[in-house]
Formats: sequence, structure tokens, C-alpha cells
Amino acid sequence: MSPTDCLFCRIVAGEIPATVVRETGTTLAFRDIDPKAPVHVLVIPKEHYADVATLAEGDPRLAAEVLATAAAVAEEEGLLGDGFRLLFNTGAYGGQEVFHVHAHLLGGAPLGPMLAGSPG
Ligand code: AMP
Repeated sequence: MSPTDCLFCRIVAGEIPATVVRETGTTLAFRDIDPKAPVHVLVIPKEHYADVATLAEGDPRLAAEVLATAAAVAEEEGLLGDGFRLLFNTGAYGGQEVFHVHAHLLGGAPLGPMLAGSPG
């Protein structure tokens, strides 16, 4: 996919609105449009990488910056005390729908079992 066709590249470019909670030179964090928890923020690199494996291989420093931004948002959202979940859906089995790597930062309530249908 070329970045011009990519939903999250268009959010980075300001062509599609988003509720941005934190921005750095290389990363952007914005609220998920369909939140699955009281706090549900997506953290992305501004540069287009399809998934976390491609990002880690192509630019490990940028991968670390995504994690650092996620941690800063977790602190700002008051999640450090009770905890939170940070996950990267990847590929078909992982349920990835948007192919611009994004970390889901989830918290604000007990999140239940890690996988649907698992006993927890
Ligand atoms: P994934 O299934 O891991 O690829 O997650 C994609 C996420 O992007 C979903 O949680 C969607 O709700 C979210 N999403 C889709 N479009 C937008 C948008 N325009 N602004 C914010 N979040 C979005």
C-alpha cells in the first residue's frame, strides 16, 4: 500500500481528523475511533511501516520511540498505577485491519483475559 492510500498516513498528514493526545517528531498518539476500553489510544510512527515486524527490522530506534510515546501516554492517562495493555495486532491471524503499524494502548478498567474465549 502506498502511504497516500493509508488511513493512518492520512491522519499524520492532517487529511483525516483524529483526537491527538501526544505528538513527537517521529510518532503520533490518537484516540481509537471505536474504543474497546475506557482508555484506548493508538500509537504510530509517522513514517509508514506495515507492521511491527517490518518496523523492528527496518528502524529499531523508531520502534523504541513508539514504545516511549506509549509509555508517556500511559503516564498522562493515569494508567501506571493500575496497569494497562499494549498490543500490536499483526497480520491475518493477529486481526490486523489497518496496515500501518500501531500499538493499542488499553486501560482504565480491568481488561479481562488476554485472548477472547480464553479462561484468563
Ligand atoms: P487493528 O485491527 O489492530 O488494525 O486496529 C485498527 C484500529 O484502528 C481499530 O481499533 C479501529 O477502531 C481504529 N481506527 C480505524 N479508523 C480510525 C480512525 N479514523 N481514527 C482512529 N482510529 C481508527
